[in-house]
Amino acid sequence: MSGGVLRRLLLRWLSPPEQAPVATPPVVIQPDPALSARVEHLEAERARLNAEIERLTDRIAAVEGARGGPRVVIRRPTCRVDGCGSPQRARGFCTRHYQAWRRGALYGFVLPDGRVEFEDGAAYRVDRLLAGMPAAHDGGALKVGQREARGRRVAPRIKAG
Ligand SMILES: [Zn+2]
Repeated sequence: MSGGVLRRLLLRWLSPPEQAPVATPPVVIQPDPALSARVEHLEAERARLNAEIERLTDRIAAVEGARGGPRVVIRRPTCRVDGCGSPQRARGFCTRHYQAWRRGALYGFVLPDGRVEFEDGAAYRVDRLLAGMPAAHDGGALKVGQREARGRRVAPRIKAG
């Protein structure tokens, strides 16, 4: 080995290793189907637990009644749809209305895709973040919850009947 080569090798050996650039992966935020699936799962779990609570409170009431103890009155929240009266299952709806809401076929509430439709055929699209909120409209003004909301008129999709 010549002196020159030896010197270069020695210098390389003595010098600190070159810093390889650290590749940082770019942060990409994408719609997350796993997260949606998780929400679905939790909603189903909530419905199951609500049913379980109802079953157990019925049993407690029955036991108290058999003992001649105080009558247990359990007030359960009812569905948010006017005049429904069925017990709440998910998102404040009963099972039937929750299913209708999820299918995008419930009047008077912001649907999962941001549509709001009314029985008179008026249909709007609002921010999807408002999904699940009750809505009302009279003439030009659209209200979501207690507030006036900006909505774009769209073609109705719910088939009446
Ligand atoms: Zn209902």
